[in-house]
Amino acid sequence: MKFFIETYGCQMNVSDSFEVRKVLEKLGLEEAKEEKEADVIIINTCSVRNTAEERVLGRLGYLKGLKNKNPNLKIYLTGCMAQNLKQELFKLAPHIDGIFGTYNRSKMVNAILKKDSYVVDISMDKYEFLPPTVDYEYPFKASVTVIHGCNHSCTYCIVPKTRGKEVSRKLNEIIDDIKRLVDEGVVEVLLLGQNINSYGRDIGTSFKELLTEVNKIEGLRRIRFLTSHPVNFKEDLIDRIAELEKVCKYFHLPVQSGSNRILKLMKRGYTYEKYLKTIEYLKSKIPTASISTDIIVGFPSETEEDFKMTLKLVEEVKFDFSYMFIFNPKRGTPAAEMENQIPEEIKVERIQRLIELQHKISRESNLKDVGKEFEVLVEEKGKLKNQLLGRTEHNKIVAFEGEEYLIGKFINVKVESLSGNTLIGTPISLTTQITK
Ligand code: SF4
Repeated sequence: MKFFIETYGCQMNVSDSFEVRKVLEKLGLEEAKEEKEADVIIINTCSVRNTAEERVLGRLGYLKGLKNKNPNLKIYLTGCMAQNLKQELFKLAPHIDGIFGTYNRSKMVNAILKKDSYVVDISMDKYEFLPPTVDYEYPFKASVTVIHGCNHSCTYCIVPKTRGKEVSRKLNEIIDDIKRLVDEGVVEVLLLGQNINSYGRDIGTSFKELLTEVNKIEGLRRIRFLTSHPVNFKEDLIDRIAELEKVCKYFHLPVQSGSNRILKLMKRGYTYEKYLKTIEYLKSKIPTASISTDIIVGFPSETEEDFKMTLKLVEEVKFDFSYMFIFNPKRGTPAAEMENQIPEEIKVERIQRLIELQHKISRESNLKDVGKEFEVLVEEKGKLKNQLLGRTEHNKIVAFEGEEYLIGKFINVKVESLSGNTLIGTPISLTTQITK
């Protein structure tokens, strides 16, 4: 039997799909290169924006044609949209065979093996972590989900509804799995969770302890983590990170807005001043820290004054990079029901101003890197002949000339110039290479 997995949304979904893929391969199923060759199609869906759901529905429309040609084809949906819309999906796309929530991937695997039709399992009784696996595109990296769900209740976010409360994975299981991945050649792990800094609160440990233990694993070179919440990114955690040499000094700390009034409406649990205090502490302890953020523009009732506070914050923090979004009301969230939704043209005008400012700051940050040397993990070939792309500890991409055998190895590169916002470098020396 051949399967095809299509993934929408965040890094958690990408990682969830890798895990399902590995389970299916172990059970003897083969991955199809194209959906046309598949006996089973799995769509791992995203619900974070309405547009993400619309894309899946559009895709299901196309798959209906395939199912008409091959009535034995099975189509299963999992992920946040499956959890959110539940049986309603059968009305929207009657040709699908199964709907499985974020807790029910193993049950989906059973249904695939039995070729079940018209099955739904969206129960959220007990979250089951599947063993993490290497990144299929970059076999020297792996994502490891350490905590699932979120106890916050940001008013624009569907995650608490689709992923439930925080559930941490046992620390010893995580360590055993990372050791296994290192034996398989992994040199960089990305620890994942919707609110990663909360790891361990439900099982009597902490994210600080987890990082400390992961840092001890021999053969592992880099540790990254996503996603932090400013409320849970505490000073003692920063102190510990400063001491751990394998933890990359790159921090993604979503701020969402610079206006205290909007932050309150968003239920983010911090103020402009408190966020800034965290950043100042971080920079004082780790002067080389590189910081990125997420910003939502045009949240309901956002005034020009509110928006100017966001611009002020961006100027003040000088984020190396920002993911900037226009507020998109998500059905089922409190923010979608709020009055004073902002007209589209105002949102567009504001985000353009923000993008312009952030580009200027990112460029300044990149210009500071010119003339410096960085160790990069070589990840892939670039667009140009003999060009390779490597990633610095600070999550910046450096393009340089080199041969393909360097992929998966660490190399020192001197940054010589910028092309747009990409760093262009010259290789200096190979540092460490993968031995397994
Ligand atoms: S902390 Fe993140 S995942 Fe949790 S509710 Fe807020 S935005 Fe959603």
